[in-house]
Order: sequence, then C-alpha cells, then structure tokens
Amino acid sequence: MNVTGHSDGTRVIDCEIVVVGAGLAGTAAATVLARAGRSVTLIDSHSVFPPEFRAEKFGDPHIALFNRLGLGDIATGATTPIDSIDIYRFGDLVARHRGREYGYAYSDVINELRAALPVSVDMVVGRVAEIDSGPGLQSVVLADGRRIVSRLIVVATGLGDTIRRKVGIERIETRKAHSLSLGFDLDRPAASYAFESLAYYGSGYDRVAYLTLFPIRETMRANLFVYREANDPWTRSVRQDPAQALATLMPGLNRICDGFGFAGRVQVRPIDLTRSQGHRRDGVVLVGDAYCTTCPAPGVGVKRVLTDVERLCNIHIPAWLATPGMPAAKIDAFYDDPVKTSTDAAAIRQSEFSRSMAIDPGPVWAARRVRNAMVRKGAALIRRAGVAIAGSIDAAPMTGKPARP
Ligand SMILES: Cc1cc2nc3c(=O)[nH]c(=O)nc-3n(C[C@H](O)[C@H](O)[C@H](O)COP(=O)(O)OP(=O)(O)OC[C@H]3O[C@@H](n4cnc5c(N)ncnc54)[C@H](O)[C@@H]3O)c2cc1C
Repeated sequence: MNVTGHSDGTRVIDCEIVVVGAGLAGTAAATVLARAGRSVTLIDSHSVFPPEFRAEKFGDPHIALFNRLGLGDIATGATTPIDSIDIYRFGDLVARHRGREYGYAYSDVINELRAALPVSVDMVVGRVAEIDSGPGLQSVVLADGRRIVSRLIVVATGLGDTIRRKVGIERIETRKAHSLSLGFDLDRPAASYAFESLAYYGSGYDRVAYLTLFPIRETMRANLFVYREANDPWTRSVRQDPAQALATLMPGLNRICDGFGFAGRVQVRPIDLTRSQGHRRDGVVLVGDAYCTTCPAPGVGVKRVLTDVERLCNIHIPAWLATPGMPAAKIDAFYDDPVKTSTDAAAIRQSEFSRSMAIDPGPVWAARRVRNAMVRKGAALIRRAGVAIAGSIDAAPMTGKPARP
C-alpha cells in the first residue's frame, strides 16, 4: 500500500482492493483477502458497528461457512451457545431438538471481526463522496479529500443505497413489504425460563411465520417473523402494547414462559425482497445485501453473504488480479458463479415459499395450509397422548434445564 501526500493537502492511497462497507460481508472479505497477501483498504462510515437489528442466531451450517473462511473462532467468540430448542405448534410442545446454535447481537460479532482484522488492512472511517470506476484503475474520494486508487472496488454496503447509486446501480424491489421482523428482549433473565430456547410456529391462519426465544448472554431475546405491513393495525398495536398483542396472537405463550414482560422497546423492521440492476460494470463488484436481500424468516441471509465472500475472495478475485485490467467481462464470472447463483436462487425461493405457505390466497396454497394444519395438529395430539401416558415430555436430562412441566 502506497500513501502519497499532495501540495493541496489531499492524500492518495494506492492498494489492490477497496472494500466499501465493514459489515459481515465487507469485514469477512477484507480479512480473507488480506490473509492471502492482498493489499486492502476497508472503508466504513462508522468506526464501531452500531447496535442494529439483524441476524441474531447462527446454526452449525453458518459456522461451517465461517470455518471455511478461517473465521469460525472469531465469529463464535461473541456468541452464546444454545444446546436445545423446544418446538411448539398450536401451543403444544411437539419436539425438543438437541444441537448447537449460537445467539448473538449482530454488532458484537461484526465488532469482533473488525477487531481481528489483519494489521495489513487499512481501515478508513469516512464518507465516500465520489467514485470513479472503469476497466483500468478505480478511484474513491472521501469527504475529507483522501483519494484511494485501487484495481477493484468491492461494494458491501448492505441496505445502504448511496454508493450503489453513485456507481449507477439500481435496487429493484421484487417484493415490497414482503414481511416484518420484530426483535425484543424479555424482562426476566434467560436462566429463569424452563427452556433453553424455543420456536413457536404460527397456526397457518395468523400471518405468523414463527417466534423464536433464545439467550444472548443473560438476556432472553425474541425474534418474531410475520407477514404483515409496517402500517397495518396489528403492527400499530404491537408498538402500543406489545404484551397484549403477543398474548392475543399466541395465547399459549404466557403458560410456556410462566408469564413474561418486555424490557425496552420492540424493534420493527419491514423487509423488502430486492435485487440489483445494472451491476455488471467495469471495476466494481457487489456482495452480500448490497447485491440482493431475502427474507429473514427462513434464515438464509448469512449463508448467502458468506457464500458470496467465499466465492469472490477465494476464486474470482485471485483470477482477476492475475491479469491486467478489471473489465466487466471479468466481474461477470462472479455474478454467474454456479454456487453463488444457486445459493441466491434457493434463498429467494425459500423466502417466497414460506410467505406463500403462510398467506397466499390461491387454492393450491390454501389446500396445502389445510393439509399441514391437519397433519401437524394430528401429530401434536398423538404427542400429547403419548406424553400423558409416559408422564413426561422428555425423560432424558438436558443441559441442566428442567423439562417443561
Ligand atoms: C431485521 C433483520 C433480521 C435478520 N435476521 C436474519 C436471520 O435470522 N438469519 C439470517 O441468515 N439473516 C438474517 N438477516 C439478514 C442478514 O442480517 C444480512 O443478510 C447480513 O447482515 C448482511 O450483511 P452485509 O455485510 O451485506 O450488510 P451489513 O452488515 O448491513 O453491512 C453494511 C455496512 O456498510 C456500511 N455502509 C453503508 N453505506 C455506506 C457508505 N455509504 N459508506 C461507507 N459505509 C457504508 C454500513 O455502515 C455497514 O457497516 C436479517 C436482516 C434483518 C434486516
């Protein structure tokens, strides 16, 4: 990396790759590239990633992806391990799954990844004022006059739109108001509940995907995914009186939790499904949510982001840098990568499928809902009868937590 001072007070930094956006995609990409010996400048408008409601639970498949990037220990360092999850349907406990999951505050994981950036990464805090991209060299100018010249710009700005618009890339909403994600903390410590974590599914007729409760450190955290709009009366009622709205929506929850209250406010995030248009350009590549967004309910966002990072940094960028120039024809190889395209397509399919199963009024979906409700209700009744006979839901001891009475 070269830094040149100019008489007008501006500084020019030369590097191979500029990554704009130090969230999950950008920080992971900068780490992988720098460890491979690339000279990388990472730019973000915040020196510390602020508390924001995003993905809050990893499963083993996510950790496997982090491990492939050599980031598993760092990512799990900021998480709370979870060893069992109780599954509720129609208010009844239908299964208790054992297996490792990890609860976390998104900002903690990102700040942990940032703290572990290789020393060779030049982390720049600032606002990008101008971008000039082309088939040869790229140039980024910050609001304070610093200019960074590179061979490639990786845009990892998530939901932010400024940079993409500066480059001339559009965000197309393929489904506006697809779903709502709600996040909140319960007022009692996680250890005071009779379960370690739970998933409580909607009836199929209540526009609910599911509610999940899980620990993040000592706090019992809740993520609720529903197919509603930000301005509908139900959403307003949640903002006004969340305890009442939840009790009405899921009457069995109070019994399972032995009463519950809320700590702090409910975070409500409308989710749009989006994709990029006009992204096949010289010198610039989009990754993670900057490229497309899917629905949080099926939990496919982190997989999509980490798959992008792996394919881009381990396969495509090394090939691109091996020869001069950075024309769009090179960059197309990433957008056409079969692993990336199939991961994105599966995430979009799962997002649409979950929504259709919950609320699509078409006769095929309505029939599927009825069939699912009958099968699941039947399974719940059989389970309940079995429990009545056995006298216990789960005889085996589990991670020090008592079985549900
Ligand atoms: C409410 C919610 C719940 C979710 N739940 C789940 C879930 O349960 N499971 C799952 O798999 N996925 C979930 N997701 C999706 C997942 O969180 C995202 O796919 C992932 O965080 C995207 O990472 P990213 O790096 O692309 O973007 P981000 O992590 O958002 O990073 C973008 C970065 O770019 C920076 N930036 C933006 N604009 C600029 C600019 N102009 N200049 C400089 N820097 C800039 C920002 O400061 C930020 O640091 C959820 C998403 C939301 C919104």
